Amino acid sequence: MQKIQNYINGELVTPRSGDYIDNHNPATGSVYSLIPDSDERDVEIAVQAAKKAFPAWAAKSNEERSNILLKIADLITDNLDQLAAAESMDNGKPVWLAKKVDIPRAASNFHFFATGIIHYASESHNMGSEYINYTLRQPIGVAGCISPWNLPLYLFTWKIAPALASGNCVVAKPSEVTPMTAYLLSELCIKAGLPKGVLNIVHGYGYKVGAAITSHKDVPLVSFTGGTKTGAEIARVAAPMFKKLSLELGGKNPNIIFEDCNFDDALKTTVNSSFSNQGQICLCGSRIYIQRPIYDKFKEALVERVKKLKVAAPKDPEVKIGAVVSEDHMNKVLSYINLAQEEGGKVLCGGERVVLDGEYKSGWYIAPTVIEGLDHTCRTNQEEIFGPVVTLQPFDAEEEVLEYANSTAYGLSATIWTQDLSKAHRVAAKVKSGIIWINCWLVRDLRTPFGGMKQSGVGREGGWEALRFFTEPKNVCVKV
Ligand code: NDP
Repeated sequence: MQKIQNYINGELVTPRSGDYIDNHNPATGSVYSLIPDSDERDVEIAVQAAKKAFPAWAAKSNEERSNILLKIADLITDNLDQLAAAESMDNGKPVWLAKKVDIPRAASNFHFFATGIIHYASESHNMGSEYINYTLRQPIGVAGCISPWNLPLYLFTWKIAPALASGNCVVAKPSEVTPMTAYLLSELCIKAGLPKGVLNIVHGYGYKVGAAITSHKDVPLVSFTGGTKTGAEIARVAAPMFKKLSLELGGKNPNIIFEDCNFDDALKTTVNSSFSNQGQICLCGSRIYIQRPIYDKFKEALVERVKKLKVAAPKDPEVKIGAVVSEDHMNKVLSYINLAQEEGGKVLCGGERVVLDGEYKSGWYIAPTVIEGLDHTCRTNQEEIFGPVVTLQPFDAEEEVLEYANSTAYGLSATIWTQDLSKAHRVAAKVKSGIIWINCWLVRDLRTPFGGMKQSGVGREGGWEALRFFTEPKNVCVKV
C-alpha cells in the first residue's frame, strides 16, 4: 500500500513515530494509502529547516522566487490528470470537477502570486520638502499554513503561494482526511528546484501536527482555513503569543431570490451553488430565501432539477454528486437531516444515504436534499451542515429577508437575485457577509479580498491582501 511521506528540508521522509493513519477512498469506503502520523518532533525539524532556509530565500529577488514558483505552476498543469484523479480518490469529488476546478486553480494560485509579487509595491508618504516616509514590506519568517479537506490542493496552494512569493518559508499541514495532492505537490516542488527547507509539509492529525505548528514559538504567523471551532482554538493559543493570524472559517450562506429575478438563471445557478462538490464548499448557499409570489414555482422547478442530479461514483463522466468526504461526515450530515425533520421540516427530495452497486456499495453517498417548512432561527438554519442539504423559506419584504440572512453567527458569502440593480446594491450593502454575488455565484477574481465577517473569519486573503498579510510593514522616516 502506498505510504505518503512528509516533505521536510527538501526530502521525502518518514514520520519520527514510524506510525501511519489509514487513508480512505470515500467512493468505496476502503483504505487505499497510509498517512504519516507525525507529531511535534517532525514539526520541530520542519520549523528548524524553514528557519535555516529563510535568510537565503528572503534575500532572493522577487524575480528569482517568481521563476521557481512559475515552474511549480507549470508542473501542476503538466500533471493535471494525475492530480485530478488523486484529488477525486482522496475526497470523493467527481473527477471532472477536480480536473475543471481544483487542479487548474492550484496552478493559478502559484501563477497569480508568482507574477503578483513582481508588481507588488509599497507606499511612500512625503511630508513637504523636509521629510519623507517609505514603507518596507519585509517577509516575516516561518509561516504556518493549515488547510481543510473540501478543496484540498486548491486551498493549500492559496496559502502557500503568497507566503512563498513574499519571501517567507513555510511549514504546512494539509487535512489528514485529504493529504494525497499535497504529497504529490512536494514531489513537484523537488522537481521544480525549490531550495530545501523553503516549504515543508508535515502530515498528520490537527490536534498533534496542527497544534504543534500554531503553538510553535518560531512560527510568528499562521494562516488557517477550516471550521470555526478549530479557528477559535487556534486564536486562543496564538493570540497571547502575538502571532499574526488569518482565519478563514465556516459559513451558513443565504441565497436571496427576489420575485423579479431572471428565473432560469437563478434556478440553474442555485442548483450549482447548493450542490457543487456535494455542498462541501464554504461558499455554497444553504439557506434559500424565495420571495413569496414565486415561491411555489421556484420550489417545484428546483426540486425537479435536484431529483435529476446523478449520484454516482466520482469516475462516472455523468456524475453530479460524488461521495462525501468521510463516514463521520456522512453521519453528521444525515444527523442534520434528522434534526431538520424533528424541528418540523419537510423533506421535498433526497434525505437519505445512497447505496451504489459493486465496488462502490460501501461508499459514502448522500442524495441531494431539499427541505422546507423551517423557521430561520432553528438549528438546521443556524448551524453549518457542509453537505448536500439546503432549506427553502418564503419571504415577503426586503427588510424581512435581511433579518433572516443576517440571523446566523456566520458571515462568509451571500447571493442576491434580482433585476432591480438599485435593490441589489442596497441589499448587498446590508447583508453582513464578506463576499456577495449579485446574479451569479463563485465568480472569482483572485485580486479581490476574500474572507468572512463575524464567526466566518478574521482577515482577508487574495490579491494584495494576502501579500500584505505575509509581509511586515516597516515605516522609515528620513530627513531629506
Ligand atoms: P477543521 O477545522 O476540522 O480542520 C481544518 C484543518 O485544521 C485540518 O488540517 C485539521 O487537521 C486542522 N486542525 C484541527 N485541529 C487543529 C488544532 N487544534 N490546531 C491546528 N490545526 C488543527 O475543518 P475541516 O477540515 O472539517 O473543513 C471544513 C470547514 O472548513 C468548514 O467549516 C468550512 O466552512 C471551512 N472552510 C472555510 C473556507 C473559507 O474560506 N472560509 C473554505 C473552505 C472550508 P485534521 O483534520 O487533519 O486533523
